[in-house]
Amino acid sequence: MPTTRNVAWDERLAAFKGRDTTHFVTLAADLAAECAACGLALQPDELLSLIVDITDGTDADGFEYQSFDTCICHRRCREPGVSLHRAAGGPDELAVIGARFTLGPRVRARTIPVLAFTLVPVLTFREPGGELTSALVSVLLTHGFRLSLGTGYDEIVDQVREVGPGVDCTVAESGLVILSIDGGHMYSHQMDRRDAGDAEWLDAAARKGKVLVISGDYLEITDTGLNLDPAARLGTLATGHVPVLTA
Ligand SMILES: [Zn+2]
Repeated sequence: MPTTRNVAWDERLAAFKGRDTTHFVTLAADLAAECAACGLALQPDELLSLIVDITDGTDADGFEYQSFDTCICHRRCREPGVSLHRAAGGPDELAVIGARFTLGPRVRARTIPVLAFTLVPVLTFREPGGELTSALVSVLLTHGFRLSLGTGYDEIVDQVREVGPGVDCTVAESGLVILSIDGGHMYSHQMDRRDAGDAEWLDAAARKGKVLVISGDYLEITDTGLNLDPAARLGTLATGHVPVLTA
C-alpha cells in the first residue's frame, strides 16, 4: 500500500493522477478537518486513508472528463480505495462555491472588490489524444485569465491583468452580481446593501468599474476565509480583472 506522509492510498490512483498523485494525496489530506467515517477531528500524525470516487464520462461535445471526489478517513475507520463510475451523460452534481470580499485599504490605498469561486468536485477533461486538463482552468485561461504562482494578495494585485472579451461581471440594481463567460453564468451572488460588507463591495465595484476575480481548482473557500495555497501549489490559481456592467 503506497503511503505519502501519513496518508495511505490505493495504488490504482496513480493510473489516473500520474505525476500529480502524491500532490493530490497530500492536498486531499490538508483539506480534510475530520474523519469522513467517524466524524472525529483529525489529529496530526494519525494514520489516514484516502478514498477516491472517480466519475468517468463524456459530455455533449464529445470530451471525456473525469471528476474526483475525495474523502479522508482514519486508517482504523476505513481502508484506502478507488472506485470508478461511468456517468451516462455530462457531469452532474457540480457545485459552484464562491465568496466576495474586499482588499484594502491596508493592502492598497483603495478598496479592491474581489470575487473568488471554484467548482466542486474538480473536473478534468482528457482531450482526444491529449493530457488531462482542468476544465475550469482551461476555460479561464482561454478567456484571458492568468496563472498566479504566488498567494500573497499584494503580489496578485500587482500582477493581475484585464481579461479578454466575453467575460463580465453584471451588478444589478437589486444587488445581484453575476460573473459570466461568453454569456454563461459562472458564479452569482446576491448582495444585500444593508450588510456593511456587501455595501462596501458594491461601492468599490462601482467606483473601480472592475473586480478582481480569483479562481481555479482546489480553492478552499469557507465561511471564515479563503486559502489559495493548494491551488497555487497545483498550478491552478487563475486571476483576472473583470469589467463591471450595471444592469
Ligand atoms: Zn475515523
